[in-house]
Amino acid sequence: MPRRPLARTYRPQRFAEVLGQEAPVRALAAASARRELAAAYIFSGTRGIGKTTIARIFAKALNCEKGPAEDCCDACPACRDIAEGRSLDVLEMDAATHTGIDDVRELREAAQYPPSRKGRYRVFIIDEAHQLSQAAWNGLLKILEEPPPWCVFLLCTTEPHKIPATIESRALHFAFKSPSTAEIREHLARIAEREGLEPTGEALDLLAKAAQGSVRDGLSALDQVRALAGKAIDGAAVREALGLVPEEAVRDYVRAVGRGDAAAALAVLDGVEREGHDLRGFAAEALERVRALALAKAVGSRPGAPPIAPDELESFRVEQLVWLGKVLDETEARLRQGGPQRVLLDLATIRMTAMADLTPLEELAQRIGSGPAGRQAPPAPPGPAPASPRRRGGSPGPSAPASPPPKRSAPQAPPDDASLLPRLAEAAAAITGRVGSFLRQAKSARLEADGRLVISIARSRAFWKTRLETPAAREAIVKAAAEVLGGAPPSVEFRLEGETAEPGAARPRNRDALERASRDPIVRELFERFDAVLLGGEALPGPEGPPAPDGPAPEAPR
Ligand SMILES: [Zn+2]
Repeated sequence: MPRRPLARTYRPQRFAEVLGQEAPVRALAAASARRELAAAYIFSGTRGIGKTTIARIFAKALNCEKGPAEDCCDACPACRDIAEGRSLDVLEMDAATHTGIDDVRELREAAQYPPSRKGRYRVFIIDEAHQLSQAAWNGLLKILEEPPPWCVFLLCTTEPHKIPATIESRALHFAFKSPSTAEIREHLARIAEREGLEPTGEALDLLAKAAQGSVRDGLSALDQVRALAGKAIDGAAVREALGLVPEEAVRDYVRAVGRGDAAAALAVLDGVEREGHDLRGFAAEALERVRALALAKAVGSRPGAPPIAPDELESFRVEQLVWLGKVLDETEARLRQGGPQRVLLDLATIRMTAMADLTPLEELAQRIGSGPAGRQAPPAPPGPAPASPRRRGGSPGPSAPASPPPKRSAPQAPPDDASLLPRLAEAAAAITGRVGSFLRQAKSARLEADGRLVISIARSRAFWKTRLETPAAREAIVKAAAEVLGGAPPSVEFRLEGETAEPGAARPRNRDALERASRDPIVRELFERFDAVLLGGEALPGPEGPPAPDGPAPEAPR
């Protein structure tokens, strides 16, 4: 004789047995005890979360002969009739199969008749309620406009947004949340014990994860494994019974990706695909593995964490693991939306293995920090652009002979009060916020001998000059100047920096310096790592020559 499914045997029969729905269950239990009822309830949540189970328990609590109470007794004739589906007062219908007008008519007639005994309720449980036809909704609305006092409608749905607003406004809505993986694990452990099964900790972990928030699915999985493995259940048995990806494949894949071995990583994918495993599940497991490695790297070993060999941990850098996690997470999300599985995973694999070659961030920071003298000399301008140096692990780049970094030439004494512009900007911001931020785009401000206020703007920021010249901005600046200088200046002038100088003169040299900078291996690495662009720059004395005079900023190199 076939064994009864665990999901049926352990289906909750009372509120007290429901797992992980504390808030809605408490509200429904209180409503049952006080008999303070709405005419309609919406129970929403994902498939297998227990919506109809809770609806039946609620119906039992309302009609239990021991009531009114918070929970049903599950033993009296009324409770048993409902549990066995032969109660005259509790009607269940599935909207997916019964959506026609005839059923609505039946529903309306059934709603008009009082329940079989005084003090009971007629409870209508409508499953997949979002699939009701328009005619059915209209009929239901008619009933809800003047509901008979004994009628309670329980609308169960996975898609509450499809319930018409006219119905929703007359109903109480309970959104059920999925129990956590830890709650499901605990529940499965309890039931396994009652069934005389002996699952290992790893087996319980895998089963709880496979349940994906549904107690029913978790129990079905346990059924499946028991049929294959018998009483003693270990991780391998669970993987085999549920078709989960073997752990070694996940480990091999992550290790191959970590050392930048694309061929080995793709070979693992081949094997996984050949054995008919789900690639999305594989991506999720790889992500889980990367997470475990990152946690072990960051905080050391934790109780319950999967075992990780020290040399394996050693071969990863934290930033690398964070990056791998990011790519795998994005890939898994796209696979869930139904993207082409193998294509997406192949591309993700290539992306991740390419990352393994990049210079560690600390090393890069060190090389930048060591100043211009420590940098590799950039190639001569006409030469071809070299590839970025691709190294791993420690060894610093070749550097120029050790010598103190050349000092920057002392800046010329500013011809104007350096603090004037910031003070003006602050005062203007207090008058009109945006004029303050416009002023911060300027280069300098100075007071001429005749009292005129001159504000200079770099040529590359000519746009801001037009914003500053509007009458409103000008007025705010005059007010701000009056405050800062103790009196309004006779006039305010805006000048583009270098307007009097010959505009073309500075151009070639500065552009030349920026072009050379964009070929610098460190700068190139920054482009690659941070998706950076070069907006402008200032040449330093030393290997690159004297400071370039101001000139227009060139376009970004890409
Ligand atoms: Zn009862």
